[in-house]
Amino acid sequence: MRRLINIIEVLVVAGILGAIIYFYGDKVQIALRVLEQRYLPCQAPIQYSLGDFSPKFGLTQTDFIHAISEAENIWEEPISKDLFEYNDGGALKINFVYDYRQEATDRLKKMGLTINSDKATYDALVIRHDALVTQYNRDKAQYDKAVSLFEQRKKAYEKEVDYWNSKGGAPAAVYDRLNQEKIELDMQAAQLNQTQDKINSLVDDINALVSVINRLVSELNLDVDKYNTVSGQRGEEFQEGIYKIDATGQEIDIYEFDNQTQLVRVLTHEMGHALDLEHSDDPTAIMYRLNQASNEKLSQSDIDSLKAKCGVK
Ligand SMILES: [Zn+2]
Repeated sequence: MRRLINIIEVLVVAGILGAIIYFYGDKVQIALRVLEQRYLPCQAPIQYSLGDFSPKFGLTQTDFIHAISEAENIWEEPISKDLFEYNDGGALKINFVYDYRQEATDRLKKMGLTINSDKATYDALVIRHDALVTQYNRDKAQYDKAVSLFEQRKKAYEKEVDYWNSKGGAPAAVYDRLNQEKIELDMQAAQLNQTQDKINSLVDDINALVSVINRLVSELNLDVDKYNTVSGQRGEEFQEGIYKIDATGQEIDIYEFDNQTQLVRVLTHEMGHALDLEHSDDPTAIMYRLNQASNEKLSQSDIDSLKAKCGVK
């Protein structure tokens, strides 16, 4: 009897383990990968794949993969090691997410503004911002006034229509006048909608400026208050990319880049985090917290921390 119970116990334990692996298999795998990267780094190349990419960036799938492999080479060449490998099902998903950050950059470009990470750009953007806010306040006040006049006129029209309807119909002359009034009201409504669109576009310009101004404030460490958007949302810090690892997997999201050099640099930086590298204090390092230099090669401090991580002399 004793033996039989043992067999049943073994089967139960095996069943529970099987269930854990069945239900938490992905999480177990991710946990193992994290441990492997931390304690046995650089042993096997990190398998990556292209996740979501927005066509709004104006780049093709091939362009994205090419930029990623450039970033891959930047890490691999200095220590002649295969650190990353493209694989269709690769666990490290690299996404290119087009959101308000890239939208802001593109919008400023369309406004004819050139963005460099320097104080002169900051000053120019602030001047433009203040001018647009003045214009917005003036246009918005005029618009609000026009809307309230329109509402009054529309109410008077509706009241009169109701009155004649209750009488069973209007005399021909009144009927024609009310028809004419209706046509004019519709025209006014269309004009107000146009003005509203212009104001909305102005608000988008201002918000785009605010987004980039706030990015420069934190990049340049300026001791000024953060600007607020006209509609008051979004005060957070600007980030061009992010590396994250959690129970759902390993991901790099890229949000914003002004040009090809910056794209490759932000990819290289985030892939450095995937190699478990921390930020560096060296402003020329790829692993510096800001993407402000233009070197597309590792700095000596990057190479030193990579070698230390991989245990290479
Ligand atoms: Zn970073």
